[in-house]
Amino acid sequence: MKDVRTHVGEVLALFREHGELSRTDVIDLSGLSRSTVNQRLAALHSAGLIEEIGGGESTGGRPSSRFALNRSRAVILTADIGATGFVAAVCDLAGTPLRHTSVSVNVWDGPHPVLTAVDAAFDELLAGGGATGADEVWGIGIGVPGPVEFAAGRVVNPPIMTGWDRFDIAGWFAARRAPVVVENDANSRAVAEARLRRHDNLISLKVGTGIGSGLVFNSAIIRGGEGAAGDIGHTRAAVADGAEGLPCRCGNVGCVEAYASGWAIIRDLDALGAHAGDVAAVVGLVRQGDLDAVRLVRQAGRVLGDAVADLVSILNPETIVLSGQLAECGEVLLSGVRERVYQRSQPLATRNLVIGVSELGEVAGVTGLALITADRILGTDQIDELLERIDTV
Ligand SMILES: [Zn+2]
Repeated sequence: MKDVRTHVGEVLALFREHGELSRTDVIDLSGLSRSTVNQRLAALHSAGLIEEIGGGESTGGRPSSRFALNRSRAVILTADIGATGFVAAVCDLAGTPLRHTSVSVNVWDGPHPVLTAVDAAFDELLAGGGATGADEVWGIGIGVPGPVEFAAGRVVNPPIMTGWDRFDIAGWFAARRAPVVVENDANSRAVAEARLRRHDNLISLKVGTGIGSGLVFNSAIIRGGEGAAGDIGHTRAAVADGAEGLPCRCGNVGCVEAYASGWAIIRDLDALGAHAGDVAAVVGLVRQGDLDAVRLVRQAGRVLGDAVADLVSILNPETIVLSGQLAECGEVLLSGVRERVYQRSQPLATRNLVIGVSELGEVAGVTGLALITADRILGTDQIDELLERIDTV
């Protein structure tokens, strides 16, 4: 299928990966002939997917035009839903959030109230676009704190998402007439961090009310057979060995979450008579230097470090990046993770390992969702469909 190889999607992918490129760059990178490249560039340019940017001189002194992805050609709507709230954003085609908002909502209230609030946030964000106003929506990315059957776009048996099991999330947004991608929240963060850092092998740990991990290796999300890969929060915590494990909200005992998550720390603070209503309050206590809160978060870091240390030995990531509300504790949480990972993992696997906190902060999830959604709609499989849609608009 030679046609597939010379597809416009492949040329567009070069711009998404490399940024600005000249005609000659595209010929060199793609290995396509000049005439084929000219055709592809013309098709992408007339669809408004790439734009010409001046500058650069060819060797003969003639101005040589350069092109780049026209990131503002359309927008992608994204919502990163956590246990106690979501961040919604309007993003450009390069995955950058243009406007975003945070909304408090309990995910266990079920899909109807939560997705109604997401829809309202999308409308508000789109209306905030100023004079141009009518941003064209090309895709929607929804992140959820639970296991996702990616191909079907559904959540399956989520431990904390009461009422969401197999709910048709894509169908909910059908009126917006754009493809919908549903992704696990830790996976979307992993993609954002891997692309931003240009690291092909990365583990993202999301530590908020619960704990999840996303694994990007050889630049692709590891989903496993059913999409359930990475559920580190419900693996067995090292501290539980030989002892009666603490009960977890998944129904099991001795899970990593039962020791190291936001809800576990809130439980332990309660037992000490220090009431922290939510994870933000825990972070507040840590920042004030509250000794119990600092000790519990440091210990949570050690439990997390133990949990991830074996993964480091097995998979040899270049980076481990922590995000989620509890990651706002910074070094207090990180030090425990580092301590255990360096103690327990193979020296070669940790020689150049970077362990840090996400620099994207609260937009880590929506950024990753926009990138994953852009991969879908601008990818070689779907780009024809998109170009047809553009033609008929
Ligand atoms: Zn569990």
